[in-house]
Amino acid sequence: MARQPARNRPPGLVVVGGKHAGRPLGEVWLVGAGPGDPDLLTFRAFNALRSADVVVHDGLVSEEILDLAPTRARRINVAKRKSRHILPQDDINQLLVALALEGLTVVRLKGGDPFLFGRGGEELAACRAAGVECHVVPGVTAALAASAGAGAPLTHRGCAQAVTFVTGHAAHGEPDLDWAALARPNQTVVIYMGVSTAALIAEHLTAAGRAASTPALIVENASRQDERRLLTTLSGLAEAAASVRGPALLMVGEAMAMAEVHNTDLPGEGRGPGEAHQPLRMNLGPGLRREIRVK
Ligand code: SAH
Repeated sequence: MARQPARNRPPGLVVVGGKHAGRPLGEVWLVGAGPGDPDLLTFRAFNALRSADVVVHDGLVSEEILDLAPTRARRINVAKRKSRHILPQDDINQLLVALALEGLTVVRLKGGDPFLFGRGGEELAACRAAGVECHVVPGVTAALAASAGAGAPLTHRGCAQAVTFVTGHAAHGEPDLDWAALARPNQTVVIYMGVSTAALIAEHLTAAGRAASTPALIVENASRQDERRLLTTLSGLAEAAASVRGPALLMVGEAMAMAEVHNTDLPGEGRGPGEAHQPLRMNLGPGLRREIRVK
């Protein structure tokens, strides 16, 4: 049975002896808000949000979701879109702890899932170290929404026996990944934060032996009104990524050829929803690209 936010619990438990003796300790809810569409919020995330005194969120959380918080709840934006840091991570950790020590129910709302490239582990550790109760609510990670929206399964019998989520973000120079492992066929590699390093990633994967003709799907703003998909190959990945502005995933693997494409700039090659997909036999050819604006 899931824990209820403090507001829904029977009164009676008062923690004494903390920094604010006599005042009940608040708590932190580390909540995954999903990829953007409020329909993809879980009930548990919704309930936590409804009980918030304060919502601490990053830039990936949509306004529609933030608007589900009670109007009395204070909103703090600690937006962390790359190269636009507003608050360093240590300060965010301290902020969460300080607000909870004030007796508040703090909802730390994060895009996708808090434990997938979300630094949720650091925030949880900070709460634990301070003796603040912290609950984690999972969220739909961007890869799941991107693959579902495109109709391109992350695993698929016969052509994708495994899926690996990696970060393409390179703190110092190049992303440090196990290229030999990622280059094996019959698996899907999903790259978060990889748009700016797409050329390097494609180069490394190809050099390690992944076929240049391997299908590659880019999904920008998955599940949002402005979702956009680009279907290409590993050799066309960098060029396709150059047109991306919003948050996007790079998804490389044979099964990505199943992605639905309504409009195509390749005569005779368009496929609509419901048409037969034959990912293994399909050859996109090097550098070819299809683009679909979804909504
Ligand atoms: N915790 C998040 C990931 C945060 S890392 C999750 O589980 O989804 C930030 C990266 O996630 C972005 O650079 C982008 O690669 C990806 N991302 C987040 N939201 C996205 C969306 N709606 N569409 C596509 N990619 C998204």
